[in-house]
Amino acid sequence: MQLYLYNSLTRTKELFTPIETGRVGLYTCGPTVYNYAHIGNLRTYIFEDVLKRVLDYNGYDVKHVMNITDVGHLTGDRDMGHDKLEEGARREGKTAWEIAAYYTEAFRKDMAHLNIQEPSIWCKATDTIPEQIDLIRTLEDKGFTYRTGDGIYFDTARFPGYNKLSHQDIEALQEGARVEINPEKRNATDFALWKFSPPNVKRQMEWDSPWGLGFPGWHIECSAMSMKYLGDQLDIHCGGTDHIDVHHTNEIAQSEAATGKPFFNFWMHGAFLIITGGKKMAKSEGNFLTLDNAFVNNGIDPLAYRYAVFQTHYRKPMEYSQEAIDGAVNGIRHLRNQVRTLKDDAGEREGRIDDGRRQKFLKEINDDLNMPRALAAVQALLKSDLAPEDRLATVFDFDRVLGFDLLQADKAVALPEVIEQMIAERIRAREARDFTRSDELRDAIEAQGYTVQDTPEGMKVFKP
Ligand code: AMP
Ligand code: ZN
Repeated sequence: MQLYLYNSLTRTKELFTPIETGRVGLYTCGPTVYNYAHIGNLRTYIFEDVLKRVLDYNGYDVKHVMNITDVGHLTGDRDMGHDKLEEGARREGKTAWEIAAYYTEAFRKDMAHLNIQEPSIWCKATDTIPEQIDLIRTLEDKGFTYRTGDGIYFDTARFPGYNKLSHQDIEALQEGARVEINPEKRNATDFALWKFSPPNVKRQMEWDSPWGLGFPGWHIECSAMSMKYLGDQLDIHCGGTDHIDVHHTNEIAQSEAATGKPFFNFWMHGAFLIITGGKKMAKSEGNFLTLDNAFVNNGIDPLAYRYAVFQTHYRKPMEYSQEAIDGAVNGIRHLRNQVRTLKDDAGEREGRIDDGRRQKFLKEINDDLNMPRALAAVQALLKSDLAPEDRLATVFDFDRVLGFDLLQADKAVALPEVIEQMIAERIRAREARDFTRSDELRDAIEAQGYTVQDTPEGMKVFKP
């Protein structure tokens, strides 16, 4: 079946065809590891995980590269401010290298909790400095760069079609340049390829280069790494919508200027998670929730967040609310219970994947990853009159895309409805920090002969 994906470059849903038959090169911009990822960031990584699983479900062999930004991402816009890693190091009294290692591990733990598959290749900005220097040198040889007091910059006026992804009004941006803080920049949109280490300051992360001691700009790393690991297999490049105007626009400019060839064919962007009132969730807004503090530490199954994310199409803003999360907790529990019941009904009988139902599911996911409709197709399957063993085999097949660990749900023993209700109430009590009620409910559940354990993965209830 044909796969249609929305391409930010053409602003249309396009039929996806890879450069090389049967294989896909996928690059997703990874985290800047100076702090925990917030659940907004994680929404974007869930969207990318679904994309990868859908490509795999369609039979493609996916080579997925994700970078770790451990240097060069500055706190201010327009290449001013401090390096986020060095700032994180100052904040926590550790080295920038320790900060990067710690938050990379925290990110991988979040990925595991959300069943986000690891990329085929992880790459760190600090491991590809020579490749980044080479790329800057090529740009210099071709006349796209100039030197200022604080670094080597890319001259965006020399690259025709600079705004082909963002469709920004460049003239209006130039007007805004009157308030530009760096008077040495020729154009408001110019960006740093290499920054010099400030005089009299010893940076923790700095390298020698043909232009002097310093560190790479943020955008150059993604160009260097995607070309290093994907070569000519530049099919799909993803990130959040905030990357369109600057980060991805600059990646395209510097890569195409260097090679003279089109960079990625498809650009896909996930919309933001916003909190009630329309504000985006961001570290700078001070309103950010992590997976640990919103889910894991409260005994809430983190896969409920994955389920919640699927309720909204990835190109629409998703509003975070307690009701949405409560709904998702119940939704995933209900789904698991349906699977357990089917398992009981199917007994030892071997099931077959039902092709008709598979086509219906495929139609939804291949329509630009329509997960709300895909979930409806799952419910239609579960409620259908197919034999239980066939429904079970088919839903396990769908789970290759859903990533809900339904095979595990199948192994667990179903709990009576009355216990399920007490669990749901206890989750709500813990969310409301009503620990007295939470303890009462634990006692009530245990009085029925069950054991309750609060673990980092959530509340576990089982018969001892
Ligand atoms: P960062 O670590 O800041 O580079 O961001 C990691 C990823 O999360 C990027 O792809 C961003 O575009 C994305 N992102 C940042 N904030 C949000 C948000 N509130 N909702 C969804 N994605 C976001
Ligand atoms: Zn990037």
